[in-house]
Amino acid sequence: MNMIFNIEKIRADFPILQRQIYNRPLVYFDNAASTQKPRQVIDAIARYYEHDNCNIHRGVHYLSVKATEDYEETRREVRDFINAKNTREIIFTKGATESLNLVASSFGRQYVAEGDEVITTIMEHHSNFVPWQVMCRERGAVLRVAGINEQGELDLAEISGMISEKTRLIALAHVSNVLGTINPVKEIISLAHLHNIPVLLDGAQGISHLPVDVQDLDCDFYCFSGHKMYAPMGTGVLYGKEKYLEEMPPYQLGGEMIRDVYIDHTTFNELPYKFEAGTPNVEGVAGLHAAILYLKEIGMENIAAYEDQLLRYATARLSEIEGVRFYGTAAHKASLVSFLIGDVHPYDAGMIIDKMGVAVRTGHHCAMPLIDFMKIPGTVRASFAFYNTEEEIDQLVIAIRKVREMFS
Ligand code: PLP
Repeated sequence: MNMIFNIEKIRADFPILQRQIYNRPLVYFDNAASTQKPRQVIDAIARYYEHDNCNIHRGVHYLSVKATEDYEETRREVRDFINAKNTREIIFTKGATESLNLVASSFGRQYVAEGDEVITTIMEHHSNFVPWQVMCRERGAVLRVAGINEQGELDLAEISGMISEKTRLIALAHVSNVLGTINPVKEIISLAHLHNIPVLLDGAQGISHLPVDVQDLDCDFYCFSGHKMYAPMGTGVLYGKEKYLEEMPPYQLGGEMIRDVYIDHTTFNELPYKFEAGTPNVEGVAGLHAAILYLKEIGMENIAAYEDQLLRYATARLSEIEGVRFYGTAAHKASLVSFLIGDVHPYDAGMIIDKMGVAVRTGHHCAMPLIDFMKIPGTVRASFAFYNTEEEIDQLVIAIRKVREMFS
């Protein structure tokens, strides 16, 4: 393989990759569920607690000011990482799920009324499906769900046909966590904007694989989790265009998001603090900062190119195995493969693959409408990160052959 970057050096940055599982070197292919953390992120959390621990935004003393400055510096780092216009558009959350719930709840209250419609797709993770379903039901609105073709791609004509004067928002995944499909989001956004309809992108699987430029995409909201991009659990981001965030009501109430509180009423803080009630995950945000610096140093373009090679290699090698059927063969895919082996149940396959030291995920991947649509019990999913190698994919191939052997 043509090495774009130094894989040995990168692997050495991730302490967990040195682990043995069942006396074999760990092969970690569950990156779509959560990525491993580099030493730089682990150290940033320890450094925060050893040197800087303090609540933010509320003190005049040294530690509080320092913790606040670092927290706000991370916000600037996130703004640059996704090329947002300004830091008022960057809201820290505890993950993609909270970002999506925030928009569904707050946008819904502000803009969605009885008879209105929201468009989403059949390939969504539950986090970008259930909040819209419940919000629409509560407000008497209709959730319209676009389907996919055999390859796991959306049909632009279908989405175009769903748009009407009743449409209030289109919410879809940048990248599918089951199929790997990279959706044609720019085209969908242009189409929606012709009708002044905002578009939300669930970027939980986009942010770690692709360079993301929210101004170039022109999306109105972009949501992601830190833990899927080498940062700590319990961190996340909601990017939103100021024109919407300004008008949207607060999602949670409490400290930090207020300006003045009187006995009979309250005025709210400015953006982004209006949406950041309570003490945030300050240590996690310190880790998120380190993760972004780490990714920037490697370069998202390099990561995308290297992971694309892994995807091509895995697709070719798994195709050689009789009985392997892929789910998601889109022309534009991120680095994951979802598959079934003959008629072996995905859980059985996953258990055997695990015993061979390879961590894959099995089941519905929090996308039950999609799994029902495909009429399968679930899939086995191997999702790759830039610290994975072709040699590890060879281990997966050996494990799949073992599954076939045991079930033949
Ligand atoms: N959206 C997609 C596409 C995902 O893959 C996931 C998690 O797997 C989520 C949303 C939810 O992310 P989290 O559980 O980190 O909030």
